[in-house]
Amino acid sequence: MAYTDPYTPERSYYECLNCTYRETTESLGHCPECGSHVRNIAVARE
Ligand SMILES: [Zn+2]
Repeated sequence: MAYTDPYTPERSYYECLNCTYRETTESLGHCPECGSHVRNIAVARE
């Protein structure tokens, strides 16, 4: 029943507060586009 994709580990969704750049990765400290802070957008799964 539980679907597990070995190629999709635990990742977080990050969005830049400045330029709205988005990236899904394990860790992202700063936006690669403008260098601003990014926020972690939690992806809820049920
Ligand atoms: Zn940015």
